[in-house]
Order: sequence, then C-alpha cells, then structure tokens
Amino acid sequence: MLIIDAHLDLAMNAMEWNRDLTRPIEEIRAREAGLTDKPDRGKGTVSFGEMRRGGVGLCVATQIARYVAPESELQGWNSPEQAWAMTQAQLAWYRAMEERGELVQIRDRSALDRHVNQWTRSQEPGANSQPSLTNQAKVVAPKPRSGEGGLPIGYILSLEGADSIVTPKHLERAYAQGLRAVGPAHYGPGRYAYGTNSTGDLGTQGRELLKEMERLGIILDVTHLCDESLRDALDHFRGPLWASHSNSRSLVPHNRQFSDDQIRELIDRGAVIGGVMDAWMLVPGWVRGQTTPQSANVTLDTVVNHIDRVCQIAGSSTHSMIGSDLDGAFGREQCPSDVHTIADLKKLEDIFSARGYSPEDVENVFSANFLRFLRSNWLS
Ligand SMILES: [Zn+2]
Repeated sequence: MLIIDAHLDLAMNAMEWNRDLTRPIEEIRAREAGLTDKPDRGKGTVSFGEMRRGGVGLCVATQIARYVAPESELQGWNSPEQAWAMTQAQLAWYRAMEERGELVQIRDRSALDRHVNQWTRSQEPGANSQPSLTNQAKVVAPKPRSGEGGLPIGYILSLEGADSIVTPKHLERAYAQGLRAVGPAHYGPGRYAYGTNSTGDLGTQGRELLKEMERLGIILDVTHLCDESLRDALDHFRGPLWASHSNSRSLVPHNRQFSDDQIRELIDRGAVIGGVMDAWMLVPGWVRGQTTPQSANVTLDTVVNHIDRVCQIAGSSTHSMIGSDLDGAFGREQCPSDVHTIADLKKLEDIFSARGYSPEDVENVFSANFLRFLRSNWLS
C-alpha cells in the first residue's frame, strides 16, 4: 500500500546533518560513529532505500532555515538573505537527487496522478517478477531509472518557517521552483508569524505573505503557529490549509499541539492533519535526553492515539494523515520504539485494524485523504 508522509526534512538531513540518503541506513549510521554534535547521531531512520522498502512513495519534503535576531537564543542565520541562500542550497540537493532518479518533484495535478499511478502499479503483485524466458529469447533487463534500482520517490516542496522569504516577492520565485506549501513560522518568533513557544499575531508582514500565498495557490501549513498567529491566519487566509505534523494538546499538553477546538476548526476548513512521531509530542512528561521510548512505552500505538483523536473529532477517518517528521532533529532515541526505520510506518496498518479501522480507513490515513486534498485544491 502506498504511504504518504506529509513531513520530512530530507534536505536538512543532507545539508546540515551531512547524511547521504542514497546510502543504506546502516552505512549512514556507521558513518556518524563518534560524532557528538547532534543528539541523534548514528540513530537516523530515513534513507531512500528504507522509504521504498516501506512503500513511502510520496512525501512533503522541506526547505528550512531560520533567521534570528541578535537577542535570540535559538540557532539560526543572522540575516534573511543567508537563510534564503541555505534554502537554495537545500533545493540544489533536491535537484541533484532528481538527476540521480532518486526523487521526482511533484508540482501539479498531472504529475501527481502520473506518479501515484506509477507507484501503485509497481506495488501490484507480480509487478517486479522477471519476464518469462519460455521463448528462450535473450531478455535484456531494462535499466533501472534510479540510483538504487527503485522508482523515484515523489516529493512536494514545502517551506518550514518563512524567514528565508526575504520579501513576499521572493515567494513567486520559490513558487516557480516548485514550492507548494509554507508554514509561516517554526520555533520562536519568526519574521512573518509567531511559532512554537512564542506568542503574537501575524502583523502586517504576515498578512501580506498570506495574501501572496493565496494568490499563488500555496498551501498554508498551520503546524507550529502559536495560538494567536493561528487565529489570525484562519481569519485572514482563504486558501487551502493543512497541519502537516501536529498532534493533540488534550493528550499531551503543550502549545506545539492543537486543542480539540482548533482541530475542529481546521477540519471545518477542510484541512488534513498529520500525526507526528517525535516522542515528546506523543506522551506527557518527556524529558529530552533522559526519557527513552522504552521507559515511556512510546510505540506506533501511541501515535495512533493522536491520529484517532482527530478521527473522533471529525467523526470519520477523512481528515487524518501521517506527517512523521522522522529524523527531524531526532532519531531512534526519541521516536516510537517499534520504528527502526521509516519502513516501519507500514506496521500502522495492523494497529489501525486492531482498533477497528476498516481497510478503507487505513487507506484514507495512508494516502487517500492527502491525495483528495491535493486533487481538490490543485486544479491543474
Ligand atoms: Zn516541525
């Protein structure tokens, strides 16, 4: 079954963690032996090979680069132009992966349909079987189209935190590069909106950005918006919106999560909401560097609690998706204990079934809701 992951920081892993995602996951981990610059060294879960093995044939992949003011305690670039340049480096890596046949950028409806058809066909039983040699003719195997012999993985380009959009005019350039979704803020105060752990509404700049997004048809990703900025965005933005990787505040209280009322309002606006796998968002009381997935008993079943919450509020499975955020600055030390690599996402199928979800419900969460959302918002 095709699985769509609505949030992966692939380029950040390549350009900041220096991970070559074309290599086997064991090799990526081994190459980080002895490194201590990041808490998740040697504990990554994402590679192109593991994505293919798990049927993750399509994802939303980010560009991400923050601007920080001199007094900020967050890490980031000292000017918006530097942040822009970082996102362009990330884009250059995505392009290089396209040239290798590892990735294919999906930027319109026809490309989406083509890709999904191709991927679904390749998963049909017998699709990979060898051609029959009964006529004794010498069969020349077709050259694989990608680096490791699988289909290219589709990606939709998204920007997490809009600080790098130097002026709203830059958005037009980014759109031409294939950018199709923007989350105006990440952690802390951003140039266009206030994000996680900060407070404040959008202000003039933020509203101007939303207007430009609306004009271009860019999806608003409301993940990471603080309550005030979310309120403001919902009041001012009339285009399509989703929450690519957001969990439930009623299960784990934190401003990073959405309350039941917020989830209800997003659903009313036609949003799809992705369940995220960073363990501190899955169970209350997580202490970074101390709590372990085992000690807190965090598994994929815990993720389903959050996705199920959205389904219960919606009264159906039609607004949920997966936005795993795997390797989003955390690895196996802080993700469900039964996730060894991203290929384990497919284990969710049995967990949903055990909870009484029908095969159609599972398909909704895995891919159908996401595809329906894009098909109704991407008219060409
Ligand atoms: Zn995030």
